[in-house]
Amino acid sequence: MLSLKDVSVAYDGVPAVTDVTLDLADGQVLALLGPSGSGKSTLLRAVAGLEPAEGAISWDGRSLAHVPTHKRGFALMFQDGQLFAHLSVAANVAYPLKLRRAGRRSRAARASRVAELLDLVGLGGYGSRLPGTLSGGERQRVALARALAVDPRLLLLDEPLSALDAGLRERLGADLRRILTEAGTTALMVTHDQEEAFTVADRLAVMRAGRVVQEGDLAQVWQHPADPWTALFLGYARVLEGPAAAVVLQAAGLRVSDRPVVAVRRSALVVDPSGPLRGSVVSARATPDQVRLVVAVEGVGEVDAVSPSGVPGPGESVRLRVEPARAAVPGAAEPASNATAGPRGAERGD
Ligand code: ADP
Ligand code: MG
Repeated sequence: MLSLKDVSVAYDGVPAVTDVTLDLADGQVLALLGPSGSGKSTLLRAVAGLEPAEGAISWDGRSLAHVPTHKRGFALMFQDGQLFAHLSVAANVAYPLKLRRAGRRSRAARASRVAELLDLVGLGGYGSRLPGTLSGGERQRVALARALAVDPRLLLLDEPLSALDAGLRERLGADLRRILTEAGTTALMVTHDQEEAFTVADRLAVMRAGRVVQEGDLAQVWQHPADPWTALFLGYARVLEGPAAAVVLQAAGLRVSDRPVVAVRRSALVVDPSGPLRGSVVSARATPDQVRLVVAVEGVGEVDAVSPSGVPGPGESVRLRVEPARAAVPGAAEPASNATAGPRGAERGD
């Protein structure tokens, strides 16, 4: 397995990654999730051996300090698959097989391995096409097949889906997870997109300004964001504090602490005639999936809410309930609720 201990990287004395300690067990997919400039790519490059780092990077307990990039047994895949434009899809996938020991395989064995990889990524029959004739999503699948060709002991992915449009990103993300799981690949994926991280990874490490601020399995990070910044970064719509937080926590049936804080999804407050909260609609907008409201809630202030049926007009009085599974207490050591509904179960954009 991969272990990082107090890994730091600086460019001309300016720190880009600071004291990162992480473990990645065999067969797991870890997403490094953070905003642009938080040091994700730098850390990935350090793991690949492309960036000199302080601290210890080791594999199965052995230091990689003096192991050059091409001897680490890792494969890299980038946002723009970086295929050879003049080579066919099959030749692109076969390329690393030819370079490595596997090059000793017979032509026939290589061709059958390539066919198997193309099937794995859903591109059976595409072998003779040129990259220029493929869609962006198909090109990324070829890049993935090529990265997997040499059975890397670790796959390093840098924003593999970021160049794709939203619908495709979601579909290819689900495929990527299936492919990595089926192949039993250990992977470290860098992304700034929380949806991408939640779709593909088993574990998350959230990065901010060069440091890992939170690490854990998906549901754990999701339900207990380390702090308000992390909650907002993970896609919670708002973080309420003080009396407003107390009102929402109480309505959700969650514990109210001395210094109440609660992070709420856009759909945490739901219009419900028997709900405990009262409010007045500020604005309403019907989207294909739900009716999104802004409601001035008594004791809370203006917050987002959803209406399961009907579009109430501005000024209309409504009652609301709070869905505990769509609220979280940042920094709470104890679970905010027993709900296990994670982002995989939630609708997009809720
Ligand atoms: P991320 O991948 O999270 O967007 P990066 O690892 O690319 O972040 O960058 C982290 C920080 O290091 C940024 O401030 C960036 O400007 C800086 N940086 C990255 N690469 C270099 C480089 N080759 N030389 C100097 N500074 C760099
Ligand atoms: Mg980057």
